[in-house]
Amino acid sequence: MARYICTVCGYEYNEEDGDADNDILEGTLFEDLPAEWTCPMCGVGKEDFEKDFDEEEDDDEE
Ligand SMILES: [Zn+2]
Repeated sequence: MARYICTVCGYEYNEEDGDADNDILEGTLFEDLPAEWTCPMCGVGKEDFEKDFDEEEDDDEE
């Protein structure tokens, strides 16, 4: 699971937690968020998020 950071306001989307306020279930991958999903804090779209790369890079088993 990864986290994505809003580059505008710093909100963190954590795939493990989802976004309950917007009916996003726990474990929803960022790429699987609906296109209309926006930052709950500032309202920008997914294109203004970037992946948070620190730690937890041991999770990918491709
Ligand atoms: Zn934001």
